[in-house]
Amino acid sequence: MGRKKRKTVRPRPRPRLPTLFECPICTDYSPTPTMTIDIDRRKGIAIINCPRCGFKQVRTIRKIDERVDIYSKLIDEVEAAREKGEPYPPAETSST
Ligand SMILES: [Zn+2]
Repeated sequence: MGRKKRKTVRPRPRPRLPTLFECPICTDYSPTPTMTIDIDRRKGIAIINCPRCGFKQVRTIRKIDERVDIYSKLIDEVEAAREKGEPYPPAETSST
């Protein structure tokens, strides 16, 4: 019983996070994931980009935010805007 069992611990293959997301803005027309989310942790920002509909947004993130967090936040905002009948992204109100 004093024998040590040697366990061969195999590193589990980590599930890769998808790099493409379904764009909530143009996904009605095409459910193909086209949206990319790039995280710049040094600047604390995330760059969301959908080449299909031309949506581009830079948003500040928290240190713990992952792509999925940013994505789900975006979904929430888009859905909230839709419920109100407002366009998303909201039209910029720059008074000059
Ligand atoms: Zn799009």
